[in-house]
Amino acid sequence: MSIDRNHRNRTPSNRGAADPGAARSFVIQKHDASTLHYDFRLEVDGVLKSWALPKGPSTDPSQKRLAIAVADHPLDYSQFEGTIPEGEYGAGTVLIWDRGSYRNMTREDGTITPMDKALAAGHALVWLDGEKLQGGYALQRMNGDKGHWLLVKMDDAEADARRNPVSTQPDSVASGRSLDEIAADGPAEQ
Ligand code: MN
Repeated sequence: MSIDRNHRNRTPSNRGAADPGAARSFVIQKHDASTLHYDFRLEVDGVLKSWALPKGPSTDPSQKRLAIAVADHPLDYSQFEGTIPEGEYGAGTVLIWDRGSYRNMTREDGTITPMDKALAAGHALVWLDGEKLQGGYALQRMNGDKGHWLLVKMDDAEADARRNPVSTQPDSVASGRSLDEIAADGPAEQ
């Protein structure tokens, strides 16, 4: 596929429903729950469609990363960083690992497929303009299990098999803090 690099410089302010390729927000939250994972969330139709990535995202197109569909979250959850108390859903410390805007690049017969239809069909291409991640990513639902998807970096100018941002850029893009530093604040106020 070809990627229109001009998309990168547009702002996420155009939210016209008529433009299925308009920029929307995305966030990746590093979540130190019972097992450490990364929650990849895309704004779609007023909610955050969400996938848990056990290994986090890769910038290497040869690395297919498992993405397990999880519950939609409200848009304002993208700003949450802190510790969810024991006994509550998602208990553990959350860090805003990356954030920015994305564009839906999913095309069929030359026109953009709306994200809801793309996700229902099990295949979406998105262009991320984040602080750590940039460029095209494919989300592909695996056969046989509706909850299991793969997130794969497209082979574009932003692909880089030598980068490993999950390891080399572990901290928050919102606060600069590590999971341990955030956890030291204790559970978030209810
Ligand atoms: Mn999570």
